[in-house]
Amino acid sequence: MKDQNCIFCKIANKEINSNLILETEDYAAFHDLNPQAPVHALIIPKKHFSSLNHIEDTELLGKLLIGAREVAKKLNIEDAYRLVINTGEGAGQTVFHIHVHILGGRPLKWPPG
Ligand code: AMP
Ligand code: ZN
Repeated sequence: MKDQNCIFCKIANKEINSNLILETEDYAAFHDLNPQAPVHALIIPKKHFSSLNHIEDTELLGKLLIGAREVAKKLNIEDAYRLVINTGEGAGQTVFHIHVHILGGRPLKWPPG
């Protein structure tokens, strides 16, 4: 269940380093390399799914959301944070292994760009 060329599979398998925040057997959360807010983390399932359009495992999706909430708490942004799942190139997805962005630490405008 791993894509040889996928950077997030490599992070999940510890083949490349990341700035890890927390992990379980199901997911890993780490700091984004190119932060768009003072706090910008990502949470990924360890199994490869190329986008939200390619995953049907509702239990795993639920774990990702609860995990994202735990990351927000751990990074002290639980009072104001935003979760984003870019899906498809036109929406800004650049890494085709599903991930949830966790953003906070500054006022977040609405609507987003
Ligand atoms: P997206 O554009 O929604 O696909 O998000 C991909 C995110 O992954 C971007 O915010 C990148 O900065 C981030 N990213 C890419 N490579 C790495 C990496 N090796 N470690 C941490 N974050 C990464
Ligand atoms: Zn992958």
